[in-house]
Amino acid sequence: MAKDFSSFLSAEGASRKKSPLKGLLRFMKGDMVSLGGGLPHPSTFPFYSLSAEIKSVAPTILNDTSGKTSSATSDLVTVPHGPQPGKVESLSASLQYGLGTGIKSLREFCKEHINQMHRPQYQDWDVLLSAGNTDSYSKAIAMLCNRGEKILVEEWTYPAALEMIDPLGVGHIPVTMDGEGMSAVALKDLLDNWGSAPDQAKEAKPRVVYVIPTGQNPTGSTMSIQRRRDIMRVAQEHNLIVIEDDPYYYLQFNVDNGWVPSLLSMDTDGRVIRLDTFSKTLAPGCRVGYMSMNAHFCTIVQNHNEVTTQQPSGFSQTLLAEMLVSHWGQEGYNRYLTENVRTEYLNRSRHLQACFQRHVNSKLATFIEPSAGMFIWIKIHLEHHPQYGTVSDSALMLRLFNKCIENNVLLVPGWQFSCKPKPADFDPADPLGGWFDGQATYLRATFAYASFEQMETAMIRFGESLNEIFSA
Ligand code: PMP
Ligand code: PLP
Repeated sequence: MAKDFSSFLSAEGASRKKSPLKGLLRFMKGDMVSLGGGLPHPSTFPFYSLSAEIKSVAPTILNDTSGKTSSATSDLVTVPHGPQPGKVESLSASLQYGLGTGIKSLREFCKEHINQMHRPQYQDWDVLLSAGNTDSYSKAIAMLCNRGEKILVEEWTYPAALEMIDPLGVGHIPVTMDGEGMSAVALKDLLDNWGSAPDQAKEAKPRVVYVIPTGQNPTGSTMSIQRRRDIMRVAQEHNLIVIEDDPYYYLQFNVDNGWVPSLLSMDTDGRVIRLDTFSKTLAPGCRVGYMSMNAHFCTIVQNHNEVTTQQPSGFSQTLLAEMLVSHWGQEGYNRYLTENVRTEYLNRSRHLQACFQRHVNSKLATFIEPSAGMFIWIKIHLEHHPQYGTVSDSALMLRLFNKCIENNVLLVPGWQFSCKPKPADFDPADPLGGWFDGQATYLRATFAYASFEQMETAMIRFGESLNEIFSA
């Protein structure tokens, strides 16, 4: 069973109660006639059925890339208006108010998927649907963090994770990274010596660590199995809750030895809050994800959902349920993840890397080969610039960025992902506003979206921009 983490709850988390109106739903069984909850009458829903043409995951079709958009490679799925025995929720049910857990069939599908893929090591874990990892993360933070507290984060991280907590008065402490993401040694060192640095003297020891373990955004790094074990050992030793934000988990390129084990799969205490999303596996506009965590935390987030977002859109939930539960099944979804999503990004990643190698002078810029995700993290070797040391790093990077823009190629300035304090005159609206020293020598490129031809063009332009700036 999960350990008792009640003492980890924020004031908000500790005071979340069941909504009494939702509480009445448990009486809704058998012959009960409800004059209770103010559910709108389904006859007023102007939606008779919901159909979609979806990709077929039959093995012969998935492996055949010759006719990706032809109707021979698709199936038509339809969610009917009224209930059909043995089927997933009807449209009139999924468009109705419901519990803050999400609809039953999709939630159970996600739970079974987690069970098969991650084999949680304790009994009382559960799964809740969310509106994606952004939503899940905000609910986890609300449950755990009070104003004035700080969470531990990778030194380069997903900017929205920090932008979400900043206005709440929840701070962050960067932990050093290496090619495998957050360093377990650095994490342990920081916590073992907590309170010894002058700025930590009055601060409570952090209780929450936020990590993106696979295909990290922005660095593209993936934690090895050993690194995951080490991080979990430090989390146990220092009694941390781990928020495992893992949107790129299924974008792993080397799965010959199986998918890398998640932090959830190594958690024997119920201290990991795992965030999964369909944003990168199906489509971000679905706005459906799921949180896997101990049952106590699930109840708190469910109560939070019931007074805020309620549950993801009924259209999304019901269509995903029809596709995943009634058509693809666990096996079909796994096949789709392995043979479609993973393969697509693997090929894209290889292509961008090959273009980089063809067109970029490796003396001026390098990257570490990513083994998952959507990104490559490019280090610019400013030390080879003729004016290095006489002109600031920021000024050189700004010149390079401007040259790239002039040459029509856009990469994201690395400083945007930095956790270090920003200067007082920092202007978040200005993409160039943050070129400050020591933070400036990286650029993030994604292979997720551009066409293969565009990636080649982009790398030609990037290579030329570098050559021009370094010969100045
Ligand atoms: N505000 C009031 C006054 C309501 O009665 C309700 C629904 N019962 C809501 C908000 C919830 O609205 P929504 O379904 O748009 O979240
Ligand atoms: N977390 C990380 C690390 C991401 O990179 C992203 C997407 O860019 C998200 C969360 C957002 O996920 P979702 O669309 O599920 O809210």
